Amino acid sequence: MGLDWCLVRCKCGHSFGHRKGSNAICTICGSSEVKKVHQFSDSRSLANAVAKANLPIELTKEMSSRLESKSAIEENRQQGPVSIRERVRRTLRSATDEQGVLRESAIRRELDGAGLDAESWESIIGGAELEGILVRCSNDSWRWV
Ligand SMILES: [Zn+2]
Repeated sequence: MGLDWCLVRCKCGHSFGHRKGSNAICTICGSSEVKKVHQFSDSRSLANAVAKANLPIELTKEMSSRLESKSAIEENRQQGPVSIRERVRRTLRSATDEQGVLRESAIRRELDGAGLDAESWESIIGGAELEGILVRCSNDSWRWV
C-alpha cells in the first residue's frame, strides 16, 4: 500500500489533508505554501490526523497558557514544558481501554498517532510509574493509580 494521503500544514497554521498528486491548496487562506507533516496509507487515518492537528492548535495554546500561569513553578521543577507533559498524559489516557488498562501495543499506537516518539514509550511509562500515576499489573500492561 502506498502512502498516498498527506497531512500538510499551511503557513497560516491550518492543517489539512490532500491526496498525493493533487495540488495542496489551503482551505482557509488559499495559499499553496504548505509543508508536508505526515503521510498515510488510507484516508481514514488521514481524517483522524487532520482533526487532531487542527483541534490542538487553539486548545493547546489555551490550555498551556492557563496551566503555565497556574503551576509554572511546579512544572518547571518537575520535567520541562507543560505541553509535552500534557500531551503524553492525554496520549496515555486515550491508550487506556474500557477496563482501565494500558497495554504496550496501545501505548505505542497512541504515541505514534499523537506524533510522539513511540520508541520512547518505556521511558514515558517509567516516568509515570515514578510519579505514581501508573502501576504495572503485568509484563505489558499498566493501570492508573
Ligand atoms: Zn492557509
